[in-house]
Amino acid sequence: MEQDMVVEMVQSIKSKGSNVGTIIADDDTTTIARLRKSVDPNIKKMSDKNHVKKNIANALYQLKAKHKKLTPKVIKYLINCLNYMLCQNQDNPKGVENGLEAVGRHPFGDHSFCDKSWCSHKENASKKYSSLPFGKPLKDIPLQTDLTDLMKVYKKQSQKLSKLGSTQGNESFNKSVASKAPKSHFYSGTSSLNVRVAASVAQKNDGQCYLIKVNNNIGLSPGVHTKRLAILRDLQARKRRAISITRKEKIRRIQLRNRRLFPLSNKCLFIMQGFPGLAVYSGTKFYVEGLSQALRQEVCGSGVRVTCIQPGDVKTELISHSTDKEAQEKYDGSSSCKILEPTDIANAVLYAVTQPEYVGVNEILVEPREAPA
Ligand SMILES: [Zn+2]
Repeated sequence: MEQDMVVEMVQSIKSKGSNVGTIIADDDTTTIARLRKSVDPNIKKMSDKNHVKKNIANALYQLKAKHKKLTPKVIKYLINCLNYMLCQNQDNPKGVENGLEAVGRHPFGDHSFCDKSWCSHKENASKKYSSLPFGKPLKDIPLQTDLTDLMKVYKKQSQKLSKLGSTQGNESFNKSVASKAPKSHFYSGTSSLNVRVAASVAQKNDGQCYLIKVNNNIGLSPGVHTKRLAILRDLQARKRRAISITRKEKIRRIQLRNRRLFPLSNKCLFIMQGFPGLAVYSGTKFYVEGLSQALRQEVCGSGVRVTCIQPGDVKTELISHSTDKEAQEKYDGSSSCKILEPTDIANAVLYAVTQPEYVGVNEILVEPREAPA
């Protein structure tokens, strides 16, 4: 936001008799300096949680260019660790300092700075790291050094990091203003803008039922349909809010975000890959995948399990049946590395069908170790 605008807004709020004690903003220091100079020298500033997290994530992605082991999966893990740590140490700068030290060490198997309340490796050192590659701690010493150096930079800001604010409420309000005064239409020059913004404020404060109050105040009947719709919309909003804080919904949000941020780790996209020259063959694989997914949903609750086994190169007579010489040359992977034996796939089938009856093995991807997709 422009500094002039912030100053103008705070001045306007103060002139209407409200006090502004703290501003939550990004780390642009000139805005707060201007505010202190021209409005109130005692005004406090809190950093915005999302900006801080974004800066840390950017710093990690910059390190990625130097360290091969710092994959998106590892970065995601580190960001998660930092998020948890910052949430747990609000108003506790010492805790943030300690936590930053722990984030630089914990992924490498050093738990000296970890706390028993969140690090289960402290009691069981051989426990798997379920979110790190191969379930094992990282071993890259240069990476650890760089990560520790990065954490040292943030340690100096522990005071600030222990008092983070959020501008999420503003974002949501911006969205509702934009729904009433879309940016694609020029409303700022018309008198209707004030009414549109006022309607957004009323909706934020009172919910959709503000319409009934407005109608009453100007001497109109609230309107049966308006009233019914306003009550329904408020009910829906309350329901959405109640659902959004449930564990299930939080997990769903994380999954959706991961799918958006890390599309390559989305297995379906990765596996379902078309190969030039094998268009029909590729199509059949997509078909089986889709069929299995739909069937699994359809038979859910009936006791039937649907497993989709996706083998890589297997030593079968398939290629010898082809009369297409080009396809034979291009896709006979048997010479490049040791490929799978039919028994390897049979073992996968055996694994799927011998699980306890409450276990659904939905997909198994088996590939030669030296020829991953
Ligand atoms: Zn630990």
